[in-house]
Amino acid sequence: MSSTGSAPSIFSRIARREVPATIVAETDRIIAFNDVAPKAPVHVVVTTKSEDYRNVAELAAGDPGLLAELVDVARQVADELTNGQFRLVFNTGEDAGQTVFHVHAHVLGGRLGEGTLGSE
Ligand code: AMP
Repeated sequence: MSSTGSAPSIFSRIARREVPATIVAETDRIIAFNDVAPKAPVHVVVTTKSEDYRNVAELAAGDPGLLAELVDVARQVADELTNGQFRLVFNTGEDAGQTVFHVHAHVLGGRLGEGTLGSE
Protein backbone atom coordinates (compact mmCIF):
# COMPACT_ATOMS: atom_id res chain seq x y z
CA MET A 1 0.00 0.00 0.00
CA SER A 2 2.66 2.50 0.96
CA SER A 3 5.07 3.73 -1.66
CA THR A 4 8.00 3.80 0.75
CA GLY A 5 11.19 3.09 -1.11
CA SER A 6 9.88 3.86 -4.60
CA ALA A 7 10.08 7.09 -6.56
CA PRO A 8 7.30 9.61 -5.88
CA SER A 9 4.44 9.53 -8.36
CA ILE A 10 3.97 12.32 -10.88
CA PHE A 11 0.99 13.53 -8.81
CA SER A 12 3.08 13.72 -5.63
CA ARG A 13 5.62 15.75 -7.57
CA ILE A 14 2.86 18.11 -8.74
CA ALA A 15 1.62 18.48 -5.14
CA ARG A 16 5.17 19.36 -4.05
CA ARG A 17 5.45 21.88 -6.91
CA GLU A 18 8.33 19.93 -8.42
CA VAL A 19 6.38 19.50 -11.67
CA PRO A 20 4.30 22.37 -13.07
CA ALA A 21 0.53 22.03 -13.37
CA THR A 22 -2.48 24.31 -13.37
CA ILE A 23 -3.81 23.76 -9.85
CA VAL A 24 -7.52 24.51 -9.56
CA ALA A 25 -8.26 23.47 -5.96
CA GLU A 26 -6.34 22.37 -2.89
CA THR A 27 -7.00 21.36 0.72
CA ASP A 28 -4.65 19.95 3.36
CA ARG A 29 -5.05 16.44 1.93
CA ILE A 30 -6.37 16.85 -1.63
CA ILE A 31 -5.13 18.60 -4.76
CA ALA A 32 -6.85 19.14 -8.12
CA PHE A 33 -5.22 20.23 -11.38
CA ASN A 34 -5.98 20.34 -15.09
CA ASP A 35 -5.24 17.10 -16.92
CA VAL A 36 -2.30 17.58 -19.29
CA ALA A 37 -4.15 15.62 -22.04
CA PRO A 38 -7.79 16.73 -21.66
CA LYS A 39 -10.56 14.42 -22.92
CA ALA A 40 -13.34 16.99 -22.34
CA PRO A 41 -13.63 20.80 -22.24
CA VAL A 42 -13.17 20.54 -18.46
CA HIS A 43 -10.86 17.69 -17.41
CA VAL A 44 -9.45 17.94 -13.91
CA VAL A 45 -7.51 15.31 -11.96
CA VAL A 46 -8.41 15.21 -8.25
CA THR A 47 -5.99 13.27 -6.10
CA THR A 48 -4.76 12.75 -2.57
CA LYS A 49 -1.52 14.41 -1.53
CA SER A 50 -0.44 11.14 0.07
CA GLU A 51 0.17 8.23 -2.25
CA ASP A 52 -0.67 5.59 0.33
CA TYR A 53 -3.54 4.29 -1.83
CA ARG A 54 -3.13 3.07 -5.39
CA ASN A 55 -6.79 3.19 -6.42
CA VAL A 56 -10.30 4.07 -5.26
CA ALA A 57 -11.04 0.60 -3.90
CA GLU A 58 -7.99 0.75 -1.63
CA LEU A 59 -8.89 4.29 -0.54
CA ALA A 60 -12.51 3.35 0.22
CA ALA A 61 -11.35 0.46 2.38
CA GLY A 62 -8.49 2.31 4.07
CA ASP A 63 -9.74 5.87 4.55
CA PRO A 64 -13.39 6.44 3.54
CA GLY A 65 -13.29 9.94 5.02
CA LEU A 66 -10.50 10.91 2.65
CA LEU A 67 -12.48 9.48 -0.28
CA ALA A 68 -15.46 11.62 0.75
CA GLU A 69 -13.16 14.65 0.89
CA LEU A 70 -11.83 13.88 -2.59
CA VAL A 71 -15.37 13.62 -3.99
CA ASP A 72 -16.32 16.88 -2.28
CA VAL A 73 -13.38 18.69 -3.89
CA ALA A 74 -14.42 17.19 -7.24
CA ARG A 75 -17.92 18.62 -6.73
CA GLN A 76 -16.50 22.03 -5.84
CA VAL A 77 -14.36 22.02 -8.99
CA ALA A 78 -17.36 21.02 -11.11
CA ASP A 79 -19.50 23.72 -9.46
CA GLU A 80 -16.87 26.28 -10.36
CA LEU A 81 -15.95 25.17 -13.90
CA THR A 82 -19.07 23.45 -15.27
CA ASN A 83 -22.83 23.75 -14.92
CA GLY A 84 -22.55 21.29 -12.02
CA GLN A 85 -23.19 18.20 -14.16
CA PHE A 86 -20.12 16.10 -14.63
CA ARG A 87 -18.61 12.64 -14.87
CA LEU A 88 -16.43 11.37 -12.06
CA VAL A 89 -14.19 8.55 -13.31
CA PHE A 90 -11.82 6.39 -11.29
CA ASN A 91 -9.88 4.13 -13.64
CA THR A 92 -8.98 1.14 -11.50
CA GLY A 93 -6.31 -1.21 -12.82
CA GLU A 94 -4.18 -1.26 -15.93
CA ASP A 95 -6.80 -3.05 -18.03
CA ALA A 96 -9.26 -0.26 -17.17
CA GLY A 97 -6.87 2.39 -18.44
CA GLN A 98 -5.18 3.37 -15.18
CA THR A 99 -1.69 4.65 -15.88
CA VAL A 100 -0.84 6.45 -12.63
CA PHE A 101 -1.10 4.17 -9.59
CA HIS A 102 -1.81 6.93 -7.09
CA VAL A 103 -5.54 7.20 -6.40
CA HIS A 104 -7.23 9.93 -8.43
CA ALA A 105 -10.54 10.85 -10.01
CA HIS A 106 -11.13 12.49 -13.36
CA VAL A 107 -13.73 15.29 -13.36
CA LEU A 108 -15.05 15.51 -16.92
CA GLY A 109 -17.55 18.10 -18.02
CA GLY A 110 -18.50 20.79 -20.47
CA ARG A 111 -17.53 24.36 -19.81
CA LEU A 112 -20.10 26.67 -18.30
CA GLY A 113 -22.57 27.73 -20.97
CA GLU A 114 -21.35 25.26 -23.61
CA GLY A 115 -24.24 22.79 -23.34
CA THR A 116 -24.26 19.01 -23.18
CA LEU A 117 -21.08 16.99 -22.86
CA GLY A 118 -20.88 14.56 -25.79
CA SER A 119 -20.28 10.88 -25.18
CA GLU A 120 -16.76 9.44 -25.59
P1 AMP B 1 -5.23 7.37 -15.42
O1 AMP B 1 -4.94 6.95 -16.84
O2 AMP B 1 -6.64 7.17 -14.99
O3 AMP B 1 -4.22 6.76 -14.48
O4 AMP B 1 -5.04 8.94 -15.38
C1 AMP B 1 -3.81 9.57 -15.34
C2 AMP B 1 -4.03 10.94 -15.92
O5 AMP B 1 -2.97 11.77 -15.50
C3 AMP B 1 -4.05 10.98 -17.46
O6 AMP B 1 -5.30 11.51 -17.89
C4 AMP B 1 -2.89 11.90 -17.82
O7 AMP B 1 -3.16 12.72 -18.92
C5 AMP B 1 -2.72 12.69 -16.52
N1 AMP B 1 -1.38 13.23 -16.33
C6 AMP B 1 -0.20 12.55 -16.42
N2 AMP B 1 0.83 13.38 -16.17
C7 AMP B 1 0.29 14.60 -15.91
C8 AMP B 1 0.83 15.88 -15.60
N3 AMP B 1 2.16 16.08 -15.49
N4 AMP B 1 -0.01 16.92 -15.40
C9 AMP B 1 -1.36 16.74 -15.51
N5 AMP B 1 -1.93 15.56 -15.80
C10 AMP B 1 -1.13 14.50 -16.01
